[in-house]
Amino acid sequence: MNEALAERPWPSLQQFHDGFGEAKRNPHLKLEDHFHINDVWRQPVHKFQSHLARAVNTRRKEELWLTVPEGRPRSGPVMAGALSTSQFAIRQQAIANVDSSASAWLTASPAWPDNRMNDRCFRTAFQMRNLLPVSSGNWCKCGKEMDPLTSHMYVCSDKCSRNKIRNTMHRKVCESLKKIAKPYFREMDMDPINGEPLCAEYLTLKDGVVIPDREEDDDRNTGVKKRADIGFRGRRRAILVDCTTCSPLAKDVKDYKPGKTADAGTKRKMKEYERAYNIQRTDRSSIFFFAVETSGGLGKEAREFVKLLAKMSGGDLSSTILRIYQTLAVEFQTARAEQVYITNRRYVTNTPPLPPSSLLHPLPPIVHPPPPPPPPSLPLLDPRET
Ligand SMILES: [Zn+2]
Repeated sequence: MNEALAERPWPSLQQFHDGFGEAKRNPHLKLEDHFHINDVWRQPVHKFQSHLARAVNTRRKEELWLTVPEGRPRSGPVMAGALSTSQFAIRQQAIANVDSSASAWLTASPAWPDNRMNDRCFRTAFQMRNLLPVSSGNWCKCGKEMDPLTSHMYVCSDKCSRNKIRNTMHRKVCESLKKIAKPYFREMDMDPINGEPLCAEYLTLKDGVVIPDREEDDDRNTGVKKRADIGFRGRRRAILVDCTTCSPLAKDVKDYKPGKTADAGTKRKMKEYERAYNIQRTDRSSIFFFAVETSGGLGKEAREFVKLLAKMSGGDLSSTILRIYQTLAVEFQTARAEQVYITNRRYVTNTPPLPPSSLLHPLPPIVHPPPPPPPPSLPLLDPRET
């Protein structure tokens, strides 16, 4: 090889050498101390390609970080508003994009019908992946700034719009999860439960707890969940799933890591259930809390659930898990793209709210002329009597 280079360098070989020289300058490339590229010809290095790829990826990630705005300052509530929502939204999306479950849609093969996305959804997902703006205006109708990725909608102060967006997303997540999980449960002779399963039928109630018979909407007030979102039932066993979507923009999230918000959401749900039920996993029934972040990341327990599905399939564990992640991510990105579409159509505006200065310096008060003397008092008549 040295001879080949010395005598008359082949252009491709020279390119290869130059490329390796470039890769070696990457501090993340960990090869043995005395390694020389020519050794590859004599004795192939184990996983050489993946060493290189990993180093290049780590470096690329670092470069990405430098271009991403810093997060919110953490010193007290006053400072929390100092950086805009957009900067925070972009930052957390950038962090989430690195996560394997959030970005699985990128590697999903469209050869599987479940992994197909239409062009509009794909475009939106691609834009968000690359942190390109998807919002068609700068303001939300509530008067707050709309971040370029429209993540504001999950924390919008207009409760009605926020709930609409959240509920749509929640419903989509439940539907997709049910669709994806169905064939795996079928393998175990388990069928989906129609509608939302009543928890009390599958989980043991704690002593003294009575679930009052009332409307679904009241659940939130008492903190006792009456129904899970989806469920599967076999002859001896039932598995319930409660889905949550969590926004990393929520006030209590400080240092965002992929999955962190989802885990917090899982904990919250777990507490809600623990108030009324014994939720320990038993042979008879169990409940999973499937939390997914609005930026696409899955919580720990959601990953456990995916693992369970893969185990039931009896196939190769890691490739099945990857395939489920891909299908989930495709479904989720599709739902997110629809959310962006609805947001742009209904909630985004280009009209900024009144600047705060107009409130700080109010117009001089209008001086009214003194009121005329009151007319002689008349007895008050009740209009109903006339
Ligand atoms: Zn808003």
